[in-house]
Amino acid sequence: MRIVLLGAPGSGKGTQAKLLIEKYGVPQISTGDLLREAVAAGTELGQQAKSVMESGGLVSDDLVLGIIEERLARPDTADGFILDGFPRTQVQAEALETLLERLGQPLDCALLIEVDFDILMQRLTGRLTCEACGQMFNRFTAPPAMEGVCDKCGGTLRHRADDNEEAIGNRLRTYETQTAPLVDFYRERGKLKRVKGIGEVSQIFGQITRALDQG
Ligand code: AMP
Repeated sequence: MRIVLLGAPGSGKGTQAKLLIEKYGVPQISTGDLLREAVAAGTELGQQAKSVMESGGLVSDDLVLGIIEERLARPDTADGFILDGFPRTQVQAEALETLLERLGQPLDCALLIEVDFDILMQRLTGRLTCEACGQMFNRFTAPPAMEGVCDKCGGTLRHRADDNEEAIGNRLRTYETQTAPLVDFYRERGKLKRVKGIGEVSQIFGQITRALDQG
């Protein structure tokens, strides 16, 4: 299984990717997570990416392509992968296509999770992530039983640095201008599948697995 998850920030790509990795046993590759790790570790790459990420813009294609090429070379991707938050530009999509052709591992599909703008805003402003296990909660729609504490592992919940209104607005605009055109990119190649990302997480997951199983 080699898939790209497409969708605006807040569409549920990360949540659904976590369910997909359990079902299909392939790794989730999130460029956002890899970049946040680099920022937290204070590497040169992290230092270069930090301010752009905080403002809600896109890190340069060169940096992101370097990270992804290195990640796809790791042996755990032999049976496939779920790309979450990559590609985000036409340049990245073309580079990915070339790279996967070279590896003889073309994508099965790009799965678009569609969610209306006002719901995205609510999800993003309320989003909380466990810093220990990555489980996600939402202050408005899926609060944890105890404030600030992960239901799953007891870890501390954090609000992402770029989940403030100004950065969120920028991220949504960046998605519309830079990433939304990839829907056509994959449609033209006969690789696009779509699901509505509204409702219960498990229902959306059901729609996703049905769409993937249709081949
Ligand atoms: P995410 O966790 O996917 O929402 O990504 C958080 C931030 O990391 C984004 O707002 C961008 O600044 C940066 N980022 C993640 N993936 C990419 C990518 N494929 N291309 C450029 N910037 C990225």
